[in-house]
Amino acid sequence: MAKIPDATITRLVRYLRVLERMERDGDVHTSSEELARLAGVTAFQVRKDLAYFGSYGTRGVGYTVPVLRRELRQILGLGRRWRLILVGMGRLGQALADYPGLADGYELVAGFDVDPSVVGRRVGPLEVRPLNELESVVQSEHVDVALLTVPEAQAQAVAERLVRAGVRGLLNFAPVVLKLPDGVAVENIDFMAGLSRLGFFMLNPRWREEMMR
Ligand code: NAD
Repeated sequence: MAKIPDATITRLVRYLRVLERMERDGDVHTSSEELARLAGVTAFQVRKDLAYFGSYGTRGVGYTVPVLRRELRQILGLGRRWRLILVGMGRLGQALADYPGLADGYELVAGFDVDPSVVGRRVGPLEVRPLNELESVVQSEHVDVALLTVPEAQAQAVAERLVRAGVRGLLNFAPVVLKLPDGVAVENIDFMAGLSRLGFFMLNPRWREEMMR
């Protein structure tokens, strides 16, 4: 398979959201032009992104909404129910555990912390477990992904421990660049970084317009 740019994967998620909305509205057919307009990109970009994965549309007819939606879910690995854990059940960990949207496609199986005042507490669907149970739970519960919500200073060590235990995907909320072996997928989420970018673009609005072209 050709090397696929990160930005393509980000856009596939956006196309999927658009298609899900279309399906809810009962739309059966769409075109790269319409998808592009609703996703805020060009039709050329839509066709190029989809071409990495095969040929989905029919010339002159476009795409069938439920078919393309199903294909994109498959490509994005959303056809299966990933099993998740949360490590660090502080403010952010607790908010995520309580988020009902997670149940849509994901199974949150456990949450871990080191603080005795947090361990044993019930948060959303979980009872917080002590960190020394991490390895056994990862194994017995066949955990795929960890959401890392520990303080910055602990993140690297906890991530390494998760990888040793067999976790192959990390959604990292701590503001650090994790160094992990090849084969481990890491996605970093940082809303503070988003705010910093926003500040720049608010001071330099034309910069963004030029970038979008
Ligand atoms: P918090 O202090 O409320 O919670 C951190 C929790 O981690 C605590 O309960 C603590 O006991 C636990 N912990 C500490 N060491 C641990 C370890 N080794 N194993 C397991 N648990 C451990 O902090 P918070 O506000 O929830 O933030 C958590 C992390 O998320 C921080 O790194 C913060 O910088 C980051 N954060 C990211 C975003 C974002 O947009 N990505 C937003 C807010 C916070």
